[in-house]
Amino acid sequence: MKLFETHAHLDLPDYDSDRESLINKCFKSGIEYIINISFNKETAMSSLALAHKYPHIFSTVGFHPHEATEFDAELVKKLAREKKVVAIGEIGLDFFRNLSPYPVQREVFANQAHLAVEYDLPVVVHDRQAHQECYNILKQENVKEAVFHCFSGDIVFAQQVLDAGWMMSFTGSITYRNSHLDDVVRLVPMDRFMIETDCPYLPPHPYRGQRNSPLHLHLIAEKIAEIKGITPKEVAEATFNNAYSFFRIPADPVKPLKSGRKK
Ligand SMILES: [Zn+2]
Repeated sequence: MKLFETHAHLDLPDYDSDRESLINKCFKSGIEYIINISFNKETAMSSLALAHKYPHIFSTVGFHPHEATEFDAELVKKLAREKKVVAIGEIGLDFFRNLSPYPVQREVFANQAHLAVEYDLPVVVHDRQAHQECYNILKQENVKEAVFHCFSGDIVFAQQVLDAGWMMSFTGSITYRNSHLDDVVRLVPMDRFMIETDCPYLPPHPYRGQRNSPLHLHLIAEKIAEIKGITPKEVAEATFNNAYSFFRIPADPVKPLKSGRKK
């Protein structure tokens, strides 16, 4: 099963002891591409360094709502021009933990959404208990390409996201016993969602309490397949294609033809 991991944080210290062997294991186990997500200045650099090391890892740049007071527009502009930076994110609003004052969160999210449009990059949205406000800012900034990472809204909000032309992505939270997302998973058309682990966070059942990794991504595909009544392979293929085009992954360089070929 060929899988596309759309949201990982493999540059974090959680992986310092085994990063290289874990990444190699991921690529051997069917993970074809990884979007490594940054959320502040420090991870913008460490994530890009990781992307430079592995051809099939790509990065993002953006200031998470928790980091909103550190927002550095010049850094975002500079890294947005990098070849291996494929999105602005993760950016958004977090009214659950509220680690930055609301007006700052709002202003920094709007600024970065604006930059995404200016630099023609898709947006990876972090929305925690701020559905309508996230929606309004994206609309106001005329963002056409966005993914609601770790989608947590109800079906009414899901329909709004779909009507706006945006994508949603699902994490291991859909495997939890208290998940309210089955209706959303049933609703979303095959060409409008992606899958992610958000590792090291949100390990899927039965790995709760442990460090998460892209090796568990297949469990999310399997859960979606179960809810939608289709095969995991169908989920894998659809989400692979969706992510490949959403993040505009460049085609691999064509291998040179063997010499000695006639004509
Ligand atoms: Zn994340």
